[in-house]
Amino acid sequence: MTDRLSDVDVVVDSLLDTAPCGFVAFADDGTIRAANATLRDMLGYGRDELQGRRVESILNIGSRIFYQTHFFPLVKLHGRAEEIFLLLRAKSGDDLATMCNAVRRQRGGEWVTDCVFMRVHERQKFEDALLRAKKAAEEANEQLEHQALELEMSEQQLLEQGEELERQRTLAEEANRAKSAFLATMSHELRTPLNAIGGYVQLLELGIQGPITEQQADALARISRAQRHLVRLINDVLNLARIEAGRVEYNLAPCNLEEMAHAVLPMVEPQLRSRGIRYFVEIAPELTAYADREKVQQILLNLLSNATKFTPANGSVTVTGAAEGERGERVRLVVRDTGVGIPAERLAHVFEPFVQVDDSHARRAEGTGLGLAISRDLACGMGGDLSAESRVGVGSAFTLTLPASLPA
Ligand code: ADP
Repeated sequence: MTDRLSDVDVVVDSLLDTAPCGFVAFADDGTIRAANATLRDMLGYGRDELQGRRVESILNIGSRIFYQTHFFPLVKLHGRAEEIFLLLRAKSGDDLATMCNAVRRQRGGEWVTDCVFMRVHERQKFEDALLRAKKAAEEANEQLEHQALELEMSEQQLLEQGEELERQRTLAEEANRAKSAFLATMSHELRTPLNAIGGYVQLLELGIQGPITEQQADALARISRAQRHLVRLINDVLNLARIEAGRVEYNLAPCNLEEMAHAVLPMVEPQLRSRGIRYFVEIAPELTAYADREKVQQILLNLLSNATKFTPANGSVTVTGAAEGERGERVRLVVRDTGVGIPAERLAHVFEPFVQVDDSHARRAEGTGLGLAISRDLACGMGGDLSAESRVGVGSAFTLTLPASLPA
């Protein structure tokens, strides 16, 4: 303001100085022509310090760019700008958030832009908060997207693993079928010559082809025992192969548990008696399974002959029957003995084919190690199961569960 100040100008100046907003007037080249006391106080400048400076020097860097690219071009084009957010730069270097209204007009022979600035503390706070919230939302979103991607990937992996499992299952099933078919054929092929051996041994033993010495009779007895063992083994293998190949039919019908137990007992009674083993049957007369009678009897026979085989003299074997489930939807037959028992680590394996706890030759000759495997497969085939509990030196308990035959 190079002109001499009139009285009116002085009044206006003092009014401006006390106005509750900052004021600055600058020429088109940015040179500050006037600034009021409020603005000087806001920015921390002394009385004449702002005059002659460039207006950009009271803007922070971002606002300076904004001033050059938008603010001033806007003012020049429209002659005014309103509610423009600007960050002022104080002398101390602090930034002050302000809202600015500007008017460009001719005064004293030149174009001057008058600006007023209102502090906007709250707005800044809100904007910061908004910005932070936006950033947090963006981060959360990013994280979500990342997780979605990971999920998609693991889904894909699961799918692939599922396919691989399915493929392996098919392969295993095929291999199992091939194995069963092979075993079935082999067993047939072996049974024929074995039966022939048995027949000829019997002929010799009967002396039909001439008298035999005691030594020869003894040898023939051994051949006969070995032959019978092999036939048993082959029959078991054949049975297991048939069951596993799904070639066994189950004729399911209501069958009384007590009746079945009494039908099987006579087959093991001689051995039980001869070894002085006591036996008990405790089955409620009304208990009825929905099962294949012959197969249940086969399982029971196997369990009872095992119990007999592995129980020393003066021991006992007990068969009990009970209902199971809330509505008695299952029945349970337990064959319990006071025999040698099975070590815990072997118990889980006794249902596997060819597993015998006692590996000694004598024991091997007695059994095939297939009885329990067959029994469990049969139980499962009827919708039931076979399980075992045992303690070495105390005894064993084999539990056969079957679906009950409930009155409609
Ligand atoms: P095995 O023809 O040898 O009896 P199993 O499959 O019936 O074949 O039984 C497998 C093995 O489980 C037996 O060799 C025996 O070691 C063990 N086992 C089965 N039942 C009993 C039992 N009641 N007490 C002790 N061990 C048993």
